[in-house]
Amino acid sequence: MRWSKALIPTLKESPSDAEVVSHKLMVRSGMIRKVAPGIYNYLPLCFRVIEKIKDIIREEMNKAGAQELLMPILSPAELWQETGRWDIYGKELMKVEDRHKKHYALGPTHEEVITDIARKELKSYRQLPACFYQIQTKFRDEIRPRFGVMRGREFIMKDAYSFHRTEEDLDSYYKVMFKTYSDIFRRCGLKFRAVLADSGAIGGDVTHEFMVLASSGESLVLSCPDDKCGYAATSDTAESVIPCPDEKHRLSGSFAEKHTPGRKTVEEVSDFLKIKPFNLIKTLIYKTSKKPVAVLIRGDRELNTAKLKKFLRDGFVELAEDALVQKITGTDVGFAGPRGLKENIKIFADFSVKDMGPAVMGANRKDTHFLNALSGKDYQVDKFIDVSIAAAGDKCAKCGMPLDGFRGIEVGQIFKLGKKYSNSLKAGYIEENGRENTGWMGCYGIGVTRIIAAAIEQNNDDKGIIWPLQISPYHVVLMGLNMKDSGTVEVCEKLYGELTDGGVEVLFDDRDLRAGFKFKDADLIGIPIKMIVSEANLKSGSIEIQDRMTAKSEIFSLERAVSVIKERTVLSNTD
Ligand code: ATP
Ligand code: MG
Repeated sequence: MRWSKALIPTLKESPSDAEVVSHKLMVRSGMIRKVAPGIYNYLPLCFRVIEKIKDIIREEMNKAGAQELLMPILSPAELWQETGRWDIYGKELMKVEDRHKKHYALGPTHEEVITDIARKELKSYRQLPACFYQIQTKFRDEIRPRFGVMRGREFIMKDAYSFHRTEEDLDSYYKVMFKTYSDIFRRCGLKFRAVLADSGAIGGDVTHEFMVLASSGESLVLSCPDDKCGYAATSDTAESVIPCPDEKHRLSGSFAEKHTPGRKTVEEVSDFLKIKPFNLIKTLIYKTSKKPVAVLIRGDRELNTAKLKKFLRDGFVELAEDALVQKITGTDVGFAGPRGLKENIKIFADFSVKDMGPAVMGANRKDTHFLNALSGKDYQVDKFIDVSIAAAGDKCAKCGMPLDGFRGIEVGQIFKLGKKYSNSLKAGYIEENGRENTGWMGCYGIGVTRIIAAAIEQNNDDKGIIWPLQISPYHVVLMGLNMKDSGTVEVCEKLYGELTDGGVEVLFDDRDLRAGFKFKDADLIGIPIKMIVSEANLKSGSIEIQDRMTAKSEIFSLERAVSVIKERTVLSNTD
């Protein structure tokens, strides 16, 4: 491609709404332009990267025996109503109405549609196992679309669904997908880690998220530093043992009541009483689809709603509104405690509360707290459970080592769905013995456009993007430094022809611009190899090859340069 003809609208300035480096660089390098919040035009450079990622995904998915198909973006409300997700999915589900007043969803994911195919077309055990995938635009009305294509409202996803006769068969295909995903992300040049993740309200199912390591990542991952143990999970899934406060920080004294005027938050109460937040118990009232519950957690920890949902086996769990808290505690918000609640509700406590010793807690009376309360004596707990968000420094639940924390960007997730959708959509098939059976399902997603942002988060410097060769929009940028010089033009044209004919993807900067300007642009768009044709080097029949990452320059004769570039741009499946 000749740069003079290419649409690569580079910019000096970052857009004002860009918070993370990938968003800034994707706009500045002319890859994307915003159409509306969370909705982007993918300009030609970006399109090339998308196609490369799709190619890698296709190769690896096909290798794993999956078949590509394409489902519609619009799916009828009736299908979603059959699984109940028309209502449960929430506001992220974009809904449209046609001229006949019939409702449709703009697909955020395709379990319903694929299971409808399965119940109609996979009728015999002979057709199983089977895995289908598509690469398609998805829609989710994200509450906070941000970080450019990282969290869009319209984005490209690869989604795959597998169908099996037995749980064992699903287990073994899940392992195949685990490896397939690892190969895909490795081939995209990403540093990533697969971690255990939350499987949603109805527990029991296994799921892994593939996290690209990046400080801007929205997910916190906890991992055991002991390689032999290898435990790694997202913070809302990770099970950990929370260290107890040192003896010297424990409270002592007998149970008593204390006037705490206007002190409601953990900070206010601990400041007032000159104690540490970890000497305090927070009492939270949650609504569920049945009766409300009270949940106690140590003052310095945060409650994890995903774990609570899982424990209660209830998809609807929400913090109670003020009026309900007042009804249950008989007082203002901020003074709730497990002793003397006005309604008979279950009281669960996080393990962090179990061994904290004498604690301060709300007294269910305005401006009043209890001091030195002990569980089993001064208040009762129905059950101790794990409902806290794990944090770095907690002990690994498997081996006891203190956990490390790192931030990650979720680029993919694999999931053992079990029979959830095959049951609700009655997707049966006939077994060998003639009986009808419902199949086991797995689903597997990859954020194609999110991979681009994640790759840039990992590969950039103060000059711009540094593409991994595998997904770079071009392999080489060929730069004629003085395009007014006929010798330079002649050599550039010759190299451009030879390299392009040899299968190398060359962006030929044929623009008649200052060399400094061209270097800035080339660094910004991040092509990994520069081929620099200067009058000075041409005098000795040589040209310069420069590496974007290391900025290392080498001088080669013209003949040798072409073969060097060919060698350096050959990609195999193991790259
Ligand atoms: P997140 O937790 O980040 O909202 P998710 O777990 O809801 O994502 P999945 O349903 O697992 O997403 O979708 C599969 C993949 O699609 C994700 O791993 C991610 O890479 C990508 N993805 C999901 N939501 C978005 C989005 N709003 N914009 C871009 N990519 C997305
Ligand atoms: Mg996910």
